Amino acid sequence: MKIDILTLFPEAFSPLKTSILARAEESGILEINLVNIRDFSKDKHKKCDDYPFGGGAGMLMTVQPLFDAINSVYEAGAKIIFPSPVGMTFNVKKAEQLSKCQHLIFVCGHYEGVDERLFELFDIEQISIGDYVLTGGELPSMVIIDSLARFVDGVISKDSLENESFSNGLLEYPQYTRPQEFQGLSVPEVLVSGNHQEVDKWRKEQSLKRTKLLREDLLSD
Ligand code: SAM
Repeated sequence: MKIDILTLFPEAFSPLKTSILARAEESGILEINLVNIRDFSKDKHKKCDDYPFGGGAGMLMTVQPLFDAINSVYEAGAKIIFPSPVGMTFNVKKAEQLSKCQHLIFVCGHYEGVDERLFELFDIEQISIGDYVLTGGELPSMVIIDSLARFVDGVISKDSLENESFSNGLLEYPQYTRPQEFQGLSVPEVLVSGNHQEVDKWRKEQSLKRTKLLREDLLSD
């Protein structure tokens, strides 16, 4: 999968060059390209923002550098995403759906956002990562990319996706590792019993119990 990220702050993306995603890039499963929107500004000072018509607080990203930056990477079939508080809220279903795309283009807003004409010039899906406002689209892009990359074949093992929170509409069961005893706390007996049927049964019960306690809304869905 190819992912182009258009941003005024390419230096913000070091988390994508770490750990599992870095390995996915090294092995050629993912290709992540950072594109600096400022390089496309036709302004003599490379300016990419301006005051909003009609007044109001803050600055808006101007449409020309965004238009040219998108056109520099766009190929037929590519999907363009603009993380924004006005989009539908991101979830695991959307992550899985996006993981099937061959080419994604993320456009990162900043300041008060972007000139609205961008959404008339291109077919762009706006996606929110939650009902709060961040300073820019860099963190939301990374959240969405990290989450969808887990569904791309070969990035993590298929087993890791099974029983994960939300995969079957429930939260994951509690997990434990060595040592079996720590500070007087023991691992639940069933997990060291060697009885796989009982382990499965316990995990299902715990999963349901935890979902009821912490996220009852998932059960009504
Ligand atoms: N004026 C905008 C509004 O009220 O909807 C908020 C602009 S915000 C300060 C700057 C940029 O951060 C947005 O254009 C968007 O790219 C990104 N952003 C902020 N909050 C976000 C969220 N919850 N989900 C996705 N992107 C977000």
